[in-house]
Amino acid sequence: MGHMSAPTARLIGYPRIGPRRELKWTLERAWSGRMTPAELQGAVAELRGAHLEEQRSIIGSAVDDFVLYDGVLETAMQLGLAPADLRTRVADDPFDVLTVLARGAQDRPAWEMTKWFDTNYHYVVPVIAALPEELVPLPWRQPLGSAETAWTVLGPYSLVKLSKLDGVAPEALASAAGRAIWAFGRLQRTTDPGFRLQIDEPSLGMAMSAEDEALLDAAYADAADLGLEEPALVTVQFGRPAGRTVAALGRRGLAVQVPLDAVEELVGDGAWDAQPEHVVTVMDGRSVWADDPSPVRELLDGLPNDGRPVRLVPSTSLMFLPYTVDGEELPAGFAFAREKAAQLAAWAAALRDGNELEAPARTSVAWPEVGEVRARAGREARRAAQADLDLPRYPTTTTGSLPQTREVRQLRRRLGSGELEAAAYEREVDRLITDAIAWQESTGIDVLVHGEFERTDMVEYFAERLDGFHTTRNGWVLSYGSRCTRPPILAAPPMAHGPMTVREWRIAQAATNRPVKGMLTGPVTIVNWSFRPPGVPDDQLFWAVAQPIATEVRALADAGARIVQVDEPAVRERWPLPTVDADARRAVYARGVRAALNHVFNQPAHVQMHTHMCYGDFGDIVPLWADAGVDVASIEFSRSNDASYIHQFYELFDDGHLQIGPGVFDVHSPHSPGSETMAERLEHFRAFMAPGDIWVNPDCGLKTRSWPEVERQLTDMVAAARRLRSSEAG
Ligand code: GLN
Ligand code: ZN
Repeated sequence: MGHMSAPTARLIGYPRIGPRRELKWTLERAWSGRMTPAELQGAVAELRGAHLEEQRSIIGSAVDDFVLYDGVLETAMQLGLAPADLRTRVADDPFDVLTVLARGAQDRPAWEMTKWFDTNYHYVVPVIAALPEELVPLPWRQPLGSAETAWTVLGPYSLVKLSKLDGVAPEALASAAGRAIWAFGRLQRTTDPGFRLQIDEPSLGMAMSAEDEALLDAAYADAADLGLEEPALVTVQFGRPAGRTVAALGRRGLAVQVPLDAVEELVGDGAWDAQPEHVVTVMDGRSVWADDPSPVRELLDGLPNDGRPVRLVPSTSLMFLPYTVDGEELPAGFAFAREKAAQLAAWAAALRDGNELEAPARTSVAWPEVGEVRARAGREARRAAQADLDLPRYPTTTTGSLPQTREVRQLRRRLGSGELEAAAYEREVDRLITDAIAWQESTGIDVLVHGEFERTDMVEYFAERLDGFHTTRNGWVLSYGSRCTRPPILAAPPMAHGPMTVREWRIAQAATNRPVKGMLTGPVTIVNWSFRPPGVPDDQLFWAVAQPIATEVRALADAGARIVQVDEPAVRERWPLPTVDADARRAVYARGVRAALNHVFNQPAHVQMHTHMCYGDFGDIVPLWADAGVDVASIEFSRSNDASYIHQFYELFDDGHLQIGPGVFDVHSPHSPGSETMAERLEHFRAFMAPGDIWVNPDCGLKTRSWPEVERQLTDMVAAARRLRSSEAG
């Protein structure tokens, strides 16, 4: 090989939830009072130890990123930034303060939660009303003084960018948070000369304005001379840092993580030379496909030899991957966290010994070219073709799922364990469906649903029925707090063997004269909540998954369904981040969303096409719906006091207005706000929507609620609709 010093492999984050989701069970036991504080402390110490040990055994070093709930929240707590009335309790009962901030309490809402960049992880957004003075680690974050272990903290720049500031100036906060972190590093060094510090600065990968640059300078003004044996590492796990950032931090003695394909440019503009160590991203920390090492070797061979250490890292923490492919039925070529870490260690060893790097087995897959957008019949023509549905004004409906009681979960478990045969299972599901139909009729709902009792998860259910996807048994990934999801793997253009949902729809429709909605998950949501193959552009992925979903809509229509709902809660999920190259990436994403939605919703005029959206912030993606041809949308509303996005959707189409059901109650709450509040929420929309365009429905699916809860909520909802109808008649 070239003349480089031998590179070492490092991780910058590792899944903390535990191979069997031990942290989840521990947290949930503590919250439900089934564990004393001392037991919790013991359990957490053990899990943290195992977390570090696992990394060391694979790669020879570890990242101590073992937070309990969320790294942003816990950084804010360590900096003394909990709200004033809770601040003094942090020392006595930090877990309780953590719980209140993360989950709320009787009389106090939680801090909000929002998406972590373009991942499915959600962080807690601190509301910062004071300046930090010092950093005091939470008890479960006390550095352990173990060798070869980096202690992580969210960096001061990202803390400012990711928090809500309440009366504090951004630069003052950046500089105070920076000083507290640097002082902590210097203090640590006095007792532990080998102390390693990792500062996570994901926001440094986004495009920066002149103000942002001033913020960065304020945050890092005092970071020079930390005096650590190994320079502190600044990770930039999303997007890419600007050359100026790399140079500025390098001159202060900090090593900045840089992408492999940026190295040449950084060498050219001198930023590389300003780095005390070279930390280079060589593998995709979020992909479940094993990585190709050939660019790594090529790069290392071409680098100037400056005698400084070179560290190879994954692009991100491996927390976005499940633990291991071991025990899964997956073809060769997949790697989860353990396998990725081992691979990285093996690459470093091979480079050191001058051996060949092993390339992974990859089968090449052809993805179809994206098709054209074709206009659906006009909105007026569709209205006319759907008039015989004969719905009342302010039609009532639900989002799809009904309570998944213990009985439902047990049925699935017994089917899985072989205790229940498929035919007997189906009979039980059918009984649940017909009962649910009768129940909805008696509650007075106009457009009914079958209830989704047969579905575990709205994406996994379809992935299991489509060739081209792999699903896992234990492939859990943290979504927020203690909650995990099990994303399927989209490996090839998916294909169905036949209808996936028609049987259940038929059972439901046979039990009533009212219309039953067919119920599907949309292609964009399926792609965004799955692991995706490397190198395939978003538009081709959306388009490929749109094919079997559009076929399924057709199958429902052929079976007689007059209303079909295709849920798209996650359209915005992976809207490309505001990096310097955002425009080009957003163009591809937008093109794909438009083509895929159009393909799915472009159905015969007499089929009333519904969608449902309930996630995050809609702003940028509203225009992507412009050529979808959707007739009715149920949109989350009850937790927001801002109707502007509903207004945007209402005005979006050239050929008339979208019919919209703004959610009238929050499905996350067991309580009903009452029919009066629901009616008021609806009244609000009469200001700008024609009465014939307003639907009445909850914010989202009801699967996590109990029957008595939904009974109250839906009875109130029907009463609210009737109230509007009679106020109009009068
Ligand atoms: N139809 C799904 C349900 O009702 C929609 C869920 C979602 O939007 N997240 O559960
Ligand atoms: Zn929803």
